[in-house]
Amino acid sequence: MKPAGKIALPALMTDAATARLFAALGAAGIAARFVGGCVRNAVFDRPIQDLDLAVDKPPETVMRALEAARIKAVPTGLKHGTVTAIADDQPFELTTLRRDVETDGRRAIVAFTDDWLADASRRDFTFNALYADPDGTLYDPFDGRADLAAGRVRFIGDADTRIAEDRLRVLRFFRFQAWYGRPPIDGAGYQACARNAATLRGLSGERVRKELLRTLEADGAPDAFDAMREAGVLDHWLPEYAGSARLRSLMAREDMADGLRRLAAVLPADANAVAIGKRLKLSTQESLRLEVILAHEPVVDIAGGARAWRAGIYRLGNGLYTDRLLLSDAPGDWRAALAMARRWTAPPLPVSGGDALRLGLKPGPQVGRLIDAVERWWIEGDFAADRAACLAELERLVRAA
Ligand code: ATP
Ligand code: MG
Repeated sequence: MKPAGKIALPALMTDAATARLFAALGAAGIAARFVGGCVRNAVFDRPIQDLDLAVDKPPETVMRALEAARIKAVPTGLKHGTVTAIADDQPFELTTLRRDVETDGRRAIVAFTDDWLADASRRDFTFNALYADPDGTLYDPFDGRADLAAGRVRFIGDADTRIAEDRLRVLRFFRFQAWYGRPPIDGAGYQACARNAATLRGLSGERVRKELLRTLEADGAPDAFDAMREAGVLDHWLPEYAGSARLRSLMAREDMADGLRRLAAVLPADANAVAIGKRLKLSTQESLRLEVILAHEPVVDIAGGARAWRAGIYRLGNGLYTDRLLLSDAPGDWRAALAMARRWTAPPLPVSGGDALRLGLKPGPQVGRLIDAVERWWIEGDFAADRAACLAELERLVRAA
């Protein structure tokens, strides 16, 4: 593979830990290059998530080299050629160059190789096959840099063939489109995804969930999801998709992307959160959150002003109140309500069932009813009543009961 110019690498890829790692590998005769997302994002000046390296020797050789240099080595996936090196607390994922031997649409049988171009050829998109030496020398065998600059997500090789090898690439196509693409979407890639949409049902819920949520977190999520719907890619995994209008208004309000909240924004009001949670393998907590975000009650009253906001924050909790507020199309000053949700936490109700019993009430459903009544009164009074006042109100209700 020939160099294709030089780029400035960010601090994370040029610091002392990186130097130590490359020195250790070099001393053992192992050639290593940064690859994939970190190089792509260095070229594109985007934040870097994880540091992936490609190495030209088998994982056992890599393990030995690291140990000899006293760099912590974790055998993350020796069968796949992956070793995690931890230098000065910074993890690096080192994967031996691979070539495909056989693929069945889900997982590939790979063989280790020392052929950089073979390794590049089995990657999915042109801008995901960028490699860089620690001095910034760039390798770009499929002109990925130009595609990245043009906002073009382009399959390496024939799109249908690449999808037949691994159908997850359909979802990855739209994920990278959402993050790095600009319209128009690459026609050949899009058509191939549409032709293969029906094969997606065979994927695992976990992998689909990860791709969909990461796609939703991108700035380009609305267009990407509309395109996915049009291509039939959502037919099996998210048939509930209700268009991107609410997602667009949510994105105009929020200051941080949240995949699950954005998922709620593309679902209809009557969507079955439990069924979607099961299908997409959401955790119990995530499913519950989705359910509450989608629920109709309690209504978030934005026009009602500060008192109504505090009541809502108390009922839903700050996080869920924020979710519902950002997704609401109710009139009112949502910015002020949001500011309230950021700075105000509700006090706990100053009385409990025990207090009712001490006042002579017998255990039973009436205890809960009276405590609920005191709670309503306390909320209506804008949480001003202290414990003594709440006890007095409880006593009044017990007497009247
Ligand atoms: P991100 O910043 O979102 O993590 P990434 O490019 O690092 O982006 P990963 O999913 O972490 O994406 O994959 C790392 C690299 O491995 C990719 O850049 C690509 O070269 C290759 N790769 C990952 N999954 C596939 C796949 N299904 N088919 C082909 N190549 C893949
Ligand atoms: Mg990555």
